[in-house]
This record gives sequence, structure tokens and C-alpha cells, in this order.
Amino acid sequence: MAIYNLGSINADLTYRVPHLPAPGETLGARSMTRGLGGKGANMSVAAARAGARVVHLGAVGRDGGWMIDRMLEYGVDTRRIAVLDDPSGHAVIAVEDAGENLILLFAGANRCIAPESIAEALEGAGPEDLFVCQNETNAQRDGAELASARGLRVAYAAAPFDAEAVTAVLPLLDLLVLNEVEAQQLQAATGRTPETLPVRDVVVTLGAKGCRWINTDTGTTRDFAALKVTPVDTTGAGDTFTGYLLAGLDRGLPMPTALEMAQRAAALMVTRYGTADVIPDLKEVTEHRF
Ligand code: ADP
Repeated sequence: MAIYNLGSINADLTYRVPHLPAPGETLGARSMTRGLGGKGANMSVAAARAGARVVHLGAVGRDGGWMIDRMLEYGVDTRRIAVLDDPSGHAVIAVEDAGENLILLFAGANRCIAPESIAEALEGAGPEDLFVCQNETNAQRDGAELASARGLRVAYAAAPFDAEAVTAVLPLLDLLVLNEVEAQQLQAATGRTPETLPVRDVVVTLGAKGCRWINTDTGTTRDFAALKVTPVDTTGAGDTFTGYLLAGLDRGLPMPTALEMAQRAAALMVTRYGTADVIPDLKEVTEHRF
């Protein structure tokens, strides 16, 4: 029915530089681009491009109107994005000619979300809806609790990894999506392998190796091979994967079919530069010949 995504919205400010600046150095950048990013926004755009009704719960600063406009353009319901006095979340990314980069991240408004605004946004939601969050806002635990209490299915993408944050939401989850490194970190923190987590469905993404689905109800594990592509930039692949997966589940697709769509969308993402602005739509994902 609908996907409620509590998540970060970031301006990705990318500067091309001849080399990465040394301490104390003032360096002129050759060019600058301003893209829409943040795990939350990427996921919302992916799910909306996949055809789902997506309500984004989050916050930007007064300088963030262009990001709301862009999300709206991509089909996301932006009415629950608060505009606060704090600065918008942003990443200052310096990319040198040799390809190496340097990233400075400021969470800003993403960490100032009022739990009451989540409660309000979820008022009309119920068991036919999905709730998802990642780990770049201040309110995932509150959000997951409110959603779970209303009977929504709760999904969580454990990124960026934070052992305390994941363990806090674990008992509330129906679906957990994590990459291979996050799965290892979770195991180190809790002693639990993905197979022994108290979550019905666990999906571990394995980069070029594809993904693994663990259903702890039935005790089954199933591997899905990735599509064969030539990668140029893997940024946003995981977020696109999760957005497409949720959109598929929301549409009532069985898990294997939803995973196949997610992998197709993510594979296309790794063949292009950029994040939210280049996420493919459902038609392209369905029709592309790999
Ligand atoms: P994250 O970006 O969160 O670290 P992964 O690297 O595991 O996540 O990638 C997420 C998904 O993107 C994978 O499960 C896979 O479907 C797809 N993917 C990533 N890298 C490649 C690749 N080199 N070739 C094909 N598919 C890929």
C-alpha cells in the first residue's frame, strides 16, 4: 500500500580537485556539482521509481527546498519532510583526478527529527503498510516502535553500521537488510550470525556476488547471483537495492521476485556515476538486457 521511510536527506556537494588538500592548504576546485543524496532519500527515490507510494519522513534546513523539490519530481510524497532552522545534512566530497576521494559529512537537520512528527505521519498507516529506516537520523528507534505498535511491517537497513542502534531495533524488525561487512560487524557485536537473528527475513547483500536471503521461520537460506555488469561507481547500489526490494514486497511480490528486481536495479546503478539523480525507473529495470 504505502512505504513510510524515515531517513536522511543530504546534499552531495562534489568538488573536482587536482589533488586532495593537505592540512593547512587552500585549494581551488575545478568544478562543483550539487546532487541529491543521503541513504534515506536514495531509498525513497528508488522505491518511488519502482512504482511504490512512498511517504518520506525526515527533515532538511531552510537551504534544503531544492532537495524536497527534486524528491517530489521523482515521485516521493514529501509532505512529511520538516523544514527546520538547522542546516540541511550535507556531504562535502573532494574527488581528485586519480580517483581517490575525501568526504566530510554533516548530519544537520537529519539528527533533529521530532518523534511527534513521526507519530503524526503514521496516523493513517496500518498493517498493509511498510515502515523502513536506516541509521542516519536521530529517531529510528522511536520510528520503529511507533510503526510496530501500529502493526506496520518494519524494515531496517543497518547502515551506516552502529551496533547499539541495530540491537535496539532488532526485536521490532520483520526485515533486516545488511551488506557483508555489516553482517560481520553485527556478528562481532552480538555473537549472532544472520541465520540466528530474531528477525523473520534477513537479506545480506554481497556486492558483485549478489545476495543471500535467510528466512528464519522456515530455516532456509537462498543465494541469488548478481547480474554481470562492468562497475564504474558502486555508490547508491545498496540503497537502490533496498528501495526496489521494499517496493516489490509492497506490491505483493514474493521475496525471490522482489530480490531479482532489486538486483537488476542495483546492477544498473553500479554502471553509472551519481546517486538519487540516476536511479533507474521500473520500465528500464524490467526491460534492460544484461
Ligand atoms: P552496499 O553498497 O550497501 O555495500 P553491496 O555492495 O552488497 O551493498 O551491493 C548491493 C547490491 O548491489 C548487491 O546485492 C548486488 O545486487 C548489486 N551489486 C553491487 N555491486 C555489484 C557488481 N559489481 N555487479 C553487479 N551487481 C552489483
